Parts: sequence; C-alpha cells; structure tokens
Amino acid sequence: MELDRILALDQAHIWHPYANPLDPGPIYPARAARGCRIELLDGRSLIDGMASWWCVIHGYNHPRLNQALYDQLARMAHVMFGGLTHEPGVRLAKTLVELTPEPLAHVFFCDSGSVAIEVALKMALQFWIARGEPGRHRFLTIRSGYHGDTWHAMSVCDPVTGMHHLFAQALPKQLFAPAPNCRFGEPCPDSEVAPIAELLDCHRHELAAVILEPILQGAGGMRFYSADYLKRVRELCDQYGVLLIADEIATGFGRTGRLFACEHAGIAPDIMAVGKALTGGYLSLAATLASREVAQTIAQGVPGVFMHGPTFMGNPLACAVANASIELLLEGDWQAQIRRIEQGLAAGLAPCRGQPGVAEVRVLGGVGVVELERPVPMRALVPRFVELGVWVRPFGRLIYLMPPYVIGEIELGSLCAAVGEVVAELPDLWARDNSP
Ligand SMILES: *Cc1c(COP(=O)(O)O)cnc(C)c1O
Repeated sequence: MELDRILALDQAHIWHPYANPLDPGPIYPARAARGCRIELLDGRSLIDGMASWWCVIHGYNHPRLNQALYDQLARMAHVMFGGLTHEPGVRLAKTLVELTPEPLAHVFFCDSGSVAIEVALKMALQFWIARGEPGRHRFLTIRSGYHGDTWHAMSVCDPVTGMHHLFAQALPKQLFAPAPNCRFGEPCPDSEVAPIAELLDCHRHELAAVILEPILQGAGGMRFYSADYLKRVRELCDQYGVLLIADEIATGFGRTGRLFACEHAGIAPDIMAVGKALTGGYLSLAATLASREVAQTIAQGVPGVFMHGPTFMGNPLACAVANASIELLLEGDWQAQIRRIEQGLAAGLAPCRGQPGVAEVRVLGGVGVVELERPVPMRALVPRFVELGVWVRPFGRLIYLMPPYVIGEIELGSLCAAVGEVVAELPDLWARDNSP
C-alpha cells in the first residue's frame, strides 16, 4: 500500500494512544524493524531510543525469538487455559517463580500490564474477603505513580500526572502519600516515611494493600527513589498487616540494573506484576505473582476460587517467546550491558545539564531522563527527532531514553547527541509549538 493511502486510512479510522482521534499529530508508517533500528515506509531508518515503550530489550526481529514463535506456531497457537495447560506456560511459570523473590510462588497469566494490575488488586481484595475482613477494600499508593489505563489501575495512578484526572469523579477514591523525595542511592530520613506511616496508621482497618512501582516510577514522572524508602514501606506494611503489591511491569527483567527493582532494597512483595519486557516486546503478555500465603488464603476462603480468567490467558505463543526472551537475557551478560548503557547515557546526556529550559538530567540503569521546566513541544519535537534519524517520543516535561539492551556504543552516542541537539533548540521549538 502507498504511504499516502496508509496515512489517509489511518487518519480516517484509527485511534492512536493518548491522541486526538481526528488529529493525532505526526504519524509515521513503519515497514520493518531490525536490531535497534526502525525502518519507515519512506525508507528512512531510525535508531530506537524507546524499545517500543520499554519492551524490546533484545532488539527487533531477533532470530532466536522469531524461531521460538515459529516452533510454537507449528505446534499450537492457542488453547483455552480453563482445564487445559501446556509446556510453554508451565515452563514460564517455573522460571518466573525461580527468578522473583522467595515467597512468590503462584503465577496468574494476563494479557497486558493493566490487567495484571487489576488482577493484583482483586487478589488483595479476595485475600481480605477470605480472611473475613471485607471492609479492607481501599488501596494506598504514592504520588507520581503509573499502573495502567484500566479502571482500578487508573484509580491508583497519580491523580494529576497519571493521565486520568478526567475520570477522577467516577473512580474509586484511593489514598495517596507524597512521592518520596529521597533519591536513589541516598538514605531515607524519617520525615520522608512519616506521611505514608500516618496514612497506614489512620486507615489500617480499611486498607487492602499498598501498591507502588519499586525504585523507578515510570510513566508518572520517571523518578528514581531511595531503596531505603522501599525497605521502610515493606516494614510498615508488615507492622500494619497490609499487603504490598510491587508493580515491576516497567522495571522487571533488568532495566534498573537488577533483574527486579525490589532487589535494590532486598525486599519481597506479597504480590508482584510483570509485563512489558516479559516477551522481549513480541506479544502482549503479563503476569501477576502471589505469595504462597496469598494463594493459600484465597484457596481456603469462600468461594475458594479466584474470580478472574481472561480468554487468552496463558497464550502459548506469548509464553513460548517469553521463555526464549528470558533465556536469552540470562545467558548473556545483561548486567554489563546495562552498566555500559548507564555509562553511555550519563556521559552522553551530561551536556544537557544546565541548558536553558532543562530542570534536571538523571540516569539509572538503562534509563536516561532530561526533565524540562515546561511541557515538551510534542508536535515540533518528534518530527525534529525523526529528521535527526532517531525515534524518541517524550511526554509531559520529560525527554527520556530507554533503548534496547543490545544497543551499540555508536548508536547510543547518536541518540544522546540527538537529544542534546534538540535540547539546544528547545527555546526555538517552544516558540514554534502549536501542540494543544
Ligand atoms: C506500562 C505499565 C503498565 C500498564 O501496562 P500495559 O501493558 O500498557 O497495560 C502498568 N504499570 C507500569 C509500571 C507500567 O509501566
């Protein structure tokens, strides 16, 4: 199909994420992707700085992941998970249980991250119903969080930066502690923990769980916070007998320099959600893991069954490619890859520090962030990045890079150079910007 025809049909019929349905802004047809490059239909090749929303850790079109899918496809694309099981599913569950902190032992497969969060919240509710305390049905979280776009997931996103303030009136009212201000690598003073401790104390009889993104808050603000804070929250949850849900959907599988971000604090949650990089960015799959205690309590309660079951639960293709992706990750030296990216990002983004309009530059593991003083001029900025030969899609006040782990030094340098160039042009781009 011709480029113009694709764009016309797209404009006529397609909703894009977080976009105006009639005027989504610049859209670029892609025709192929390989390694760390996305090839546009007009022949241009872009270095990928996004890993397609943080999922494509091994790069695009990876022979091993492709082969895993071909092999599984030749056997069975899908069967229902009610009453049936299969090797790709049980292998993946065994691997996830082995890789995640000790008490997590029961895996619920979901079709996306948001659903994994819904499932995590429902598990917490059912845990308390089974314990005879149905009044514990509220959730406590920290501001600047993001947990997905579905109903209850929206209710625990940051009420301002979480993209869902439009729906605030219709959503269940959860409890919000301030986002921790103690940085990653720093200790956490008592004053930082006091507000969340107070909320736990006041609401202990109605709280089902605390939910948070460990260490790295992603789409809610790209903040990196103190491992000490996370440790203290775990202790508080134990003290008040409240469950802890860790949303590792963005952080899981190495992005922050540990396989799971909870490891920075040496803590184990009662429930954990993983997604995004789980399939190396090939198919939509997520999982909610629960501790033995959570699973046993739900099992022994009434009705004894867990009331959730997506149609495509445990899809064998998705499980097969997830198994291959995790194998690939663990047999390679991913820690060295992340360290190399961390050093490259730190060096490459340093020149942005102190530029006009730049509030802060920060790097953790495979994540580099340039935080601006004002919202990014999206409509001017994305086309400028494309002109510079890179795929970088900022949001809010954040220009960030989360490249595939396999990115080479030269490509990483080009990504950082493009960010530097665009940052230098910011005053001019802001002046020309007509984003809504
Ligand atoms: C992306 C994300 C989600 C939602 O996952 P989807 O697959 O987009 O539904 C939830 N939590 C965190 C931390 C995420 O980064």
